[in-house]
Amino acid sequence: MDFSDTPQEAAFRAEVRAFLDAHVPAKTPGNRSYASRAMSPADVAASKAWQRTKAENGFAGILWPKAFGGREGTPMEHIIFQQEEENYLVPASVFNQGVGMAMPTVMTFGTPEQLERYPRPALFGDEIWCQLFSEPDAGSDLAGLRTRAVQDGDDWVVNGQKIWTSNAHFSDYAMLVTRSDPTVAKHAGLTFFIVDMKSPGIDVRPIKQISGTSNFCEVFLSDVRIPDSQRLGAVGAGWKVAMTMLANERFTVGKTEGPDFEDIFLLTRGLELDGRRAVDDPAVIEHLADWYVQSAGLKYARLRSQTALSRGKTPGPEASIGKLVSASKLQDIATYGIDLLGQAGAVMDPAVAPMNAWFQHALLYAPGKRIAGGTDEILRNIIAERVLGLPGDIRADKGLAFNQVPTSRRQG
Ligand SMILES: Cc1cc2nc3c(=O)[nH]c(=O)nc-3n(C[C@H](O)[C@H](O)[C@H](O)COP(=O)(O)OP(=O)(O)OC[C@H]3O[C@@H](n4cnc5c(N)ncnc54)[C@H](O)[C@@H]3O)c2cc1C
Repeated sequence: MDFSDTPQEAAFRAEVRAFLDAHVPAKTPGNRSYASRAMSPADVAASKAWQRTKAENGFAGILWPKAFGGREGTPMEHIIFQQEEENYLVPASVFNQGVGMAMPTVMTFGTPEQLERYPRPALFGDEIWCQLFSEPDAGSDLAGLRTRAVQDGDDWVVNGQKIWTSNAHFSDYAMLVTRSDPTVAKHAGLTFFIVDMKSPGIDVRPIKQISGTSNFCEVFLSDVRIPDSQRLGAVGAGWKVAMTMLANERFTVGKTEGPDFEDIFLLTRGLELDGRRAVDDPAVIEHLADWYVQSAGLKYARLRSQTALSRGKTPGPEASIGKLVSASKLQDIATYGIDLLGQAGAVMDPAVAPMNAWFQHALLYAPGKRIAGGTDEILRNIIAERVLGLPGDIRADKGLAFNQVPTSRRQG
């Protein structure tokens, strides 16, 4: 492990800091973002403007080829930018899926026309993308999806339902995975498309979350016609395209947003408990020590992955540990912070008490973090099988055609 920047990395870090200093205010202990993550139209506009500023200054597509407006930088430079950007008050991004996941996939499988059309507007903040993968009966088992695509001349006709589609309500385009052949094994019968979210037959219904906000949606597809020219990858090769897109997710997932050790530490120093500072209470200290240890472990696990990237290697499945630990730590810290705040913990209005509202909001969205991008149980399976070498999960549908898999529902 080597935690220090190389001379080139240090020079890049200085360049990034100079850019950020020139464009956005830095976070300070009394001036953190306390982001509530509810994306209003004004937030979307701010996100677009910040994306454009980054693109115009060569910091939006650090891993992207220069031909598409990128920098052709290294994975370490990409990480350095993320690390530095976290220290500034920047608008919440609506471009992680488009720029971080969708466009690298288009660059891998796209036709010359698709490459000409899509990456640049995404990079410069003009078009927002979402990911139409999960369905009511296909989440962890994504390959069990049922949305049907049937070829009709030069078009495909798509029918089905997607769910939990982040940002669908303000997206311009989506990456869509469908079942084109139910008579072959489930992974083999999938075909992937780029779909215009304004196409006739697409109905986007935001889902109201417990926090009162709506960050994701149900998306219904009824006889949606998609030209074959919008197919991404070969017919029946949709699984490979989908996996490429999900593999790109590891470059987009940074530190989990929300209160961390430093924040609960700050909170306990300012609160009184039984006539003394909460931070001096032995029970509080015990919790703080646990979170300090977890935070330190996560930091070094991240540095280990970064060292692998810096040496041109791919981080292993042990990266799953990062999300597993950080999402439940977020939930624990938010819950404990709210408990310590007593009645004040019920405040949800950031204008009244920004930090209290931030803890409250984190409490409500932390459970989602334990599901999105792989549930706790799925991550444990990955660690058990690929890190510890334990026997694999039982797959009752192995080798069966999708429409022969026993189910209470008709397949395809
Ligand atoms: C905040 C958020 C944003 C999201 N954004 C998107 C998006 O933009 N696009 C998109 O397509 N999807 C999105 N999702 C959906 C997400 O990918 C799925 O929720 C996730 O894959 C889990 O699928 P599921 O909800 O169907 O749960 P299921 O897969 O049905 O799981 C239900 C329970 O069973 C457990 N389980 C399932 N299989 C196993 C197994 N083999 N072994 C042990 N336990 C198992 C799970 O851990 C879970 O506890 C988002 C989800 C969230 C929470």
